[in-house]
Amino acid sequence: MSAFGKDRAAVAGMNLRQQLRQGTKRAPKGTGGGGGGALFRDQYYPPNDGTADIVRLLPGSFPAPRVDFDAKDYVRDADNNVVVDSLPYIKYIEYFLIQRKFSFVGSEGPLGGFKGKGEPSLASEWYWHEWNERKNNGTDSPQSLRRSEKCAMSVLVQAPFYHVPQVDKDGKIRINEKTKQPYMVWKKGAVRGNDELAAGGYEKKNGHVMHWSYNFNHWNTLTSYANGLACHCRSCNAQDSIRELALVCRSCGECVVDFQETTLSEAELNKIRDEEVKCHQCGFHGFLENMIKCENCAHGEEATLFDFDLEVTQVKASDGGKGYNLMIRKAIGPRPINGVYGESERKGLDLPKIYSPASMEQQLKLLGPLPTADGQQQGGATRQPVNNGSRSYT
Ligand SMILES: [Zn+2]
Ligand SMILES: [Zn+2]
Repeated sequence: MSAFGKDRAAVAGMNLRQQLRQGTKRAPKGTGGGGGGALFRDQYYPPNDGTADIVRLLPGSFPAPRVDFDAKDYVRDADNNVVVDSLPYIKYIEYFLIQRKFSFVGSEGPLGGFKGKGEPSLASEWYWHEWNERKNNGTDSPQSLRRSEKCAMSVLVQAPFYHVPQVDKDGKIRINEKTKQPYMVWKKGAVRGNDELAAGGYEKKNGHVMHWSYNFNHWNTLTSYANGLACHCRSCNAQDSIRELALVCRSCGECVVDFQETTLSEAELNKIRDEEVKCHQCGFHGFLENMIKCENCAHGEEATLFDFDLEVTQVKASDGGKGYNLMIRKAIGPRPINGVYGESERKGLDLPKIYSPASMEQQLKLLGPLPTADGQQQGGATRQPVNNGSRSYT
């Protein structure tokens, strides 16, 4: 059926735009910026000091069950099997212990935001327990735990990096007790200007793969920016050469939108592009396939975020808050990086391992047991989360 649009990501029924869009779906209640990520090594933060980095996002392929946010359950196919997508990023829930400035990954899984449906998670129980207390006493306290829905991706940071001894938060070098040698980490040097690291005689390399986790705002910036890149061709690297022909049913090929004739607004088109729709011809329910052509080559493919070097920075949010907004100053490309970087710089990290959930034992250690209704402590570690009275997703 597909003369134009190749399903290059080999994703069951979703193109990259649709995959990225999944990352913006979340509980209606947001909790703002997440924690410090003290747990994680090699975590990337775009600079917020007026400088910018050149980065290349590296797509992974991580299995993720598709969630129906209206039905509050997994999407199932005709044989009642859960539909599993392959996504280039991972989604996770981050908890941040405000007093201790410590963050960890929640264990409730993809259905965790729906009352009574997630995997066991003491952090989730604690969070909603406090949420209820705040609601009942009409104040802002207690609030010891912040919860954020996040996504994470691998990113190649294109700058000089130096292999330097790791220091703790007091500036002291961390020594491995076994080897008596310092722990070593890759640290980004200055691209321009005075560079102390360059003068230090450390091992140097150009470019380092890190992991970048996004809150909802940053994710939105990236996905909306990505939509503007699809007019370029990743096959021949031509600019502005992609023309959309039609949106068609993946099952029967029925044309749902003919771009020659459509009177739909861009907003309406975006909705049809991003959401699953039911085909009037064959009844198939799913994402549409985008038929495109390139005016410059015979094998046109829409460029994506992963085909560009992005110049990224963070700027202070204009609302006067403490937050920073992600800003993409420019996208350079589309162009491959095969000739520039070796395999190890083009390979993403094992994100599910890096962002593996804290065990119930760890959560109990961090949070303590949940108080019961009559003020007694109970063994929260084995109870299913119920979140009575919470308004999550309702
Ligand atoms: Zn159809
Ligand atoms: Zn082309």
